[in-house]
Amino acid sequence: MSLNLHDSPWREEIGRLDQIILEMFPETEQRRVEWLNITGLVLPHPIPTYLIPSNAEEISERLQKLQKLLIDMGFLYLARQLTIFGRSFIELRIIPDFLVKKSRETSKERWMKFGLFVATLLSLLWVGWLNGQMYAKITGKMDTLNLVVLSLSYAVGLLLAVGVHEMGHMLLALRHGHPPNYPIFIPLPFGFGTLGAVIMQKEPFKDRNELFDISISGPLLGLIPSVIFTIIGLFLSPSIDKSLLPSPPLGTWEFLQQYQIPLFEGFSRIIKPDLSASETILLHPLALAGYIGLLVTALNLVPVGQLDGGHVARSLVKTEQQHRFITYMAALILIFLGFWFFAIIILYLYMRTGHPGPLDDVTKLTPTRQVIGALVVGLWFLLLPIPTGVLNQLSLLLQ
Ligand SMILES: [Zn+2]
Repeated sequence: MSLNLHDSPWREEIGRLDQIILEMFPETEQRRVEWLNITGLVLPHPIPTYLIPSNAEEISERLQKLQKLLIDMGFLYLARQLTIFGRSFIELRIIPDFLVKKSRETSKERWMKFGLFVATLLSLLWVGWLNGQMYAKITGKMDTLNLVVLSLSYAVGLLLAVGVHEMGHMLLALRHGHPPNYPIFIPLPFGFGTLGAVIMQKEPFKDRNELFDISISGPLLGLIPSVIFTIIGLFLSPSIDKSLLPSPPLGTWEFLQQYQIPLFEGFSRIIKPDLSASETILLHPLALAGYIGLLVTALNLVPVGQLDGGHVARSLVKTEQQHRFITYMAALILIFLGFWFFAIIILYLYMRTGHPGPLDDVTKLTPTRQVIGALVVGLWFLLLPIPTGVLNQLSLLLQ
């Protein structure tokens, strides 16, 4: 065993930590100091590394205790499971937290994000106006007040669905001790009026539980306004004769005719049970916002790379290889459903960075989180946009 820290500017603190670690993990077989070589983390000094003959089950509880201790002292740890000559080891590395903690958002960044938020609100109002016009024309209420209400229903509905999703990520990140980091909204003056929003996670996730919490909270919270607006919107939507719809369908309607979301279909069948074969539901802009909110949730939950669903998958599976396999399978499902462009972009991003995993990649998810994770996989299939013909054939088969 050897530990030589004469190069390190934090050798005194690490000396103290060394004692604590040897007391907590008396079975430690090797202590050394080495340069870190993990994707996404390049540190300017060699760091202490411990090799502990153990496995995840035996060590998880002690690691969680160590995490609390280290945080108070301004340190973090990295943990990976290794197999050397058939024996299980935990490789534990101690790093000063300032090396991975990033500076807080500058006010310039915040203003830029606010500007994009306003631009997104405007583009949503514009797209809401276009959709509202078509809706108003068919229902015969073209007055300006009605158009403003329709446009606002769409814009505010969708902005809330996307905003609550991002707020979910932010709140859980704050709870886990990360500094506030606001989302970047992406405006789009056509299509749905936005490409959603993203939060650039600046600091690495401490462990699987944190990775799970921060990633899952967005889709789960965002689902609430989406479901509420779907239900209210469907009650507001009239049934009309199919011949009244513009042909060919315009904008959002073209997409709606191509894809059905099982959960949305379920709600429309419950709320509009006696629709005749020649009729269709003329979706109120609020119902449209609900539909797109569900779609955004489904696309975020795809277990690919570093999307929300990819993070959740990474926290559930054992190794990075398993995560890679799931990523490729999920991308195939996306391509099969016709979202090949989306699949290519996220695969490209994934191949550049992979998924480095949380700092502590050893501690298992708590059982409650594992159950929630399994339920979310089921939820994903309820939200997945399915080409229209396919869903109809499936429901015929089930009858
Ligand atoms: Zn998200």
